[in-house]
Amino acid sequence: MDARSELAMAEFFNPSGELFSPALTSDWPRPNRVELHNGILTIWSTQAHQKSLEPTRLARPGRGLLESFLSLAGPADQQIPLSALMKGTRQEHFSDEKICRFAAHFGGLQIFYRMQTGSQWPETVHTEYCAVWRYFAGVMRSLLLIGAEQYQGKPGSPEQWRVISTPPSLMGKMARKQDRCWFEPMPLGDEENWLALAYFAAKQHEQNQVMIARLLNTLLGLGRVRPWITWSGAQPEGPRPRFTYTSRSLLSHLALQLCLRISKVEAFVVCFHCGRTYLPPVRAPKAGQRNFCTDCREKGMPKYYSHRDYRRRKRRSAKAGTRE
Ligand SMILES: [Zn+2]
Repeated sequence: MDARSELAMAEFFNPSGELFSPALTSDWPRPNRVELHNGILTIWSTQAHQKSLEPTRLARPGRGLLESFLSLAGPADQQIPLSALMKGTRQEHFSDEKICRFAAHFGGLQIFYRMQTGSQWPETVHTEYCAVWRYFAGVMRSLLLIGAEQYQGKPGSPEQWRVISTPPSLMGKMARKQDRCWFEPMPLGDEENWLALAYFAAKQHEQNQVMIARLLNTLLGLGRVRPWITWSGAQPEGPRPRFTYTSRSLLSHLALQLCLRISKVEAFVVCFHCGRTYLPPVRAPKAGQRNFCTDCREKGMPKYYSHRDYRRRKRRSAKAGTRE
């Protein structure tokens, strides 16, 4: 990101100078293979379901993930028609390779995509467009810049609103129609809803906080950000269920981070013992690890739980011993 943009959104960086809020988020499976051809990414993946995946097959989001994603925003290629991509008449964009490497590490955005037929679930093959990646990287960057101006009582620059309101035209063709749910705040599916919002975001009287919140909510929908429970213990006395705030995908993580930074929520971590949110002193605990707030730490709760585990392990091995 250039220094001017960083300065403009400075208030969203945390005290360590990062665009990051510690939060309990899920890991997600890395793709098996990603190929780039003419601005189109083909992504081979194995979807995580009951089987737990090898740690080496998991994408581990670091503190700098949102910032690295923002750096993929490139000069607009909004007007490239889908047909030019399909026929291969378009020049490779300089950031295509960078996007391909990013996708190989962290998987696809899984929006405005096409599934390829022929593979057997949980194996999947799908295609995504680098133009869509550049657009959403630009959108997130613009939302931060506009958000910063909104805190100062300004509407945000027309240039930034234009980034949001000019999605690549191919997105119109790719948007999936979903069953309308009339109880949703917007009855359209998230992809169609995004395009509708992008259209209205061009109008000056719509360029306000309500629109920003709608865009952010739709982004949370596109990323399928939702509470997520995993419970791995096979034994009745195994660990408690683990609760995270994102589902298992790249966009889920990015959308949550973006919303936390724009809302200036410093941390989204809950203490294992007392269940209150707190700001971890160093970093977010790893998923699956117990984490404790300062109060509970001072009360010696970490020791209490590790002693309890030790006693249980001992009892179990004693029981196993008597059966022999
Ligand atoms: Zn606590």
